[in-house]
Amino acid sequence: MTPIKNIYCVGRNYVLHAKELNNKVPTSPFLFLKPTHALVEANGQDIILPANQGSVHYEAELVLRIGKPYEKGIKVDELVNSMAIGIDLTLRDVQDELKEKGYPWLLAKGFQNSAVLSKFIDFPGIEKCEQEDFALIKNGEQVQLGNIKNMIFDPQTIVDFTADHFGLGVGDIIFTGTPEGVGKVHDGDQISLLFGGEILGTCTFKK
Ligand code: ZN
Repeated sequence: MTPIKNIYCVGRNYVLHAKELNNKVPTSPFLFLKPTHALVEANGQDIILPANQGSVHYEAELVLRIGKPYEKGIKVDELVNSMAIGIDLTLRDVQDELKEKGYPWLLAKGFQNSAVLSKFIDFPGIEKCEQEDFALIKNGEQVQLGNIKNMIFDPQTIVDFTADHFGLGVGDIIFTGTPEGVGKVHDGDQISLLFGGEILGTCTFKK
């Protein structure tokens, strides 16, 4: 598989998540990027997180991987060849400061190990995806449960918008936004990432 190139992330793409952080629901897709150095696979190992920069929040998200060059009119089912469940880790206190200053989010969203990915599986298509929930389990308790049918901007809108504004090609991945239930990560937390009830990745966070 082509190595991962650009890491696009969609912010505030689920109404209940936007509301839990007292954010307005956006009227057009709201995107940011992470550096590729942020990538780490959750394959059972310890993942080291920043210890002295305030709270780190987990955000479980469905991640789409682009398998073809984008062309106008192409459907998501043709464009995307695989998917994973990811965690868009966020330094929430840092992000709050950046928001207040009107600064970009890179410091809060782009640190090393901030883009956690389960293994990739073949993309089953949008329709199938809507029939399966994704979930994040922390220390045995399900803390997030999402389904892409609750997105504000659906995958087709996201890929078209991304391609129009920035370009979209083979190897790009898109974190498509988190549902409600985000919260703090603590030292020693054991995490499992699930799709359709199947565990696709696990890790332990160390601070
Ligand atoms: Zn996110």
